[in-house]
Amino acid sequence: MREWWRRLAEAGLAHPTWPVGVGGRGLGSSRARIVTEELGRAGVVAPPTGHLAAGLAAPTILAHGTPEQIDRYVGPIARGEVAWCQLFSEPGSGSDLASVATRAVRDGDEWVVTGQKVWNSAADLSQLGMLIARTDLDAPKHRGITYLLVDMDQPGVEVRPLRQMNGQSAFCEVFLTEARVRGDAVLGEVNDGWRVAQTTLAAERGSLSGRAAPGLVQALSGPKGDLDRTVGEVIDRAGRARRSRIPAGAVPARTMFELAREHGVSGDPVTRQQLGRYYSQTRVDAWTGRRIAAARGRLTGADGSLAKLATSRICQLSRDLSFSIVGAAAMLDGGDAPLEGELHRVGLASPGNRLGGGTDEIQRNVIGERGLGLPREPSADRDVPYRELRVGTQRPDAG
Ligand SMILES: Cc1cc2nc3c(=O)[nH]c(=O)nc-3n(C[C@H](O)[C@H](O)[C@H](O)COP(=O)(O)OP(=O)(O)OC[C@H]3O[C@@H](n4cnc5c(N)ncnc54)[C@H](O)[C@@H]3O)c2cc1C
Repeated sequence: MREWWRRLAEAGLAHPTWPVGVGGRGLGSSRARIVTEELGRAGVVAPPTGHLAAGLAAPTILAHGTPEQIDRYVGPIARGEVAWCQLFSEPGSGSDLASVATRAVRDGDEWVVTGQKVWNSAADLSQLGMLIARTDLDAPKHRGITYLLVDMDQPGVEVRPLRQMNGQSAFCEVFLTEARVRGDAVLGEVNDGWRVAQTTLAAERGSLSGRAAPGLVQALSGPKGDLDRTVGEVIDRAGRARRSRIPAGAVPARTMFELAREHGVSGDPVTRQQLGRYYSQTRVDAWTGRRIAAARGRLTGADGSLAKLATSRICQLSRDLSFSIVGAAAMLDGGDAPLEGELHRVGLASPGNRLGGGTDEIQRNVIGERGLGLPREPSADRDVPYRELRVGTQRPDAG
């Protein structure tokens, strides 16, 4: 796998929109899609994603990194050598992300980081993390944050996977106790991390609505993934694995029709109306997604939020309609449950789509403010020094 991903990167086919020399060819998104479709047609192992590495870390580093940082971090992502996680959210800072309380203090050439992060997808499988931390207590909350690239494999970083109600464990809490970050691993300027984080968040909103190209065999980058497996092993595994019937968290319309027929409700007028609505919604969302991609994210000023909101809505519609079709069987997991239990597991996880990457309410705020030009949401603390705020759960005086 190491060799395959290295060759893809060297040919500029790993991520064709990235610059030449770090896995890309500087192509536009429509030409890049042709490359991906051709790779899919050939049925090869997909270019590496590294969990959040290619989707979030790389675009942020390409936009804000120095040439040295781009070489040091983006090349290994393109070659599938590393996986990355996002260390943004905290127990007291989710929607109000600018209130993060994790502290980073300068110590000679390094930064010393202490605090707690939570809901960090794949943190247990990642070698590096995108971290935002408070570096100036006297500045207002948006202006005292620094964006750090942290090495996860060190004594000061403890990762604890969280168990979800569907039995899976897709995200973790991460405790940082005097974790060390190199001075040259600051992305952007010190105390300007909020601006840098906006690039990550915009990339995240856009990526959450994306779907993998058909035909590509998925593999996990990094040493805890498939990097040291043979391509044959990965292809064999994909051949043995049951193909997901619910890609990207929503039952495809055709599968929904089959489900209705199997459960004897396809003649029911109310169900038919709901199926029609579901089909139309999936088609409209797909066209919206294409228009957004074609405009390279400059359609409305809030394209990522529109795409994310559409995805989260379709996931909720999918859960409600599929559960109403199969009835009480939706409570069952295991091989003889509807869609071999996948319906149950994906349905239970579906509220997460409304939260991860910014909640539906926050996306609506972004659409209102940046897309429609409505007045900003009132904020009483925008210019108050962070030290004077009563926010977060990690303050020394928090109860
Ligand atoms: C599946 C999943 C994966 C995730 N992965 C990551 C990850 O990899 N890294 C990471 O850092 N984080 C991750 N998160 C965390 C995610 O970003 C937060 O859960 C999210 O930003 C919401 O924060 P919160 O949970 O603290 O909720 P809160 O911010 O406490 O929100 C609670 C409720 O209040 C509403 N609300 C809050 N503020 C406003 C407002 N201004 N206007 C209107 N309504 C408001 C919210 O919409 C929500 O309904 C993930 C979450 C999920 C579910």
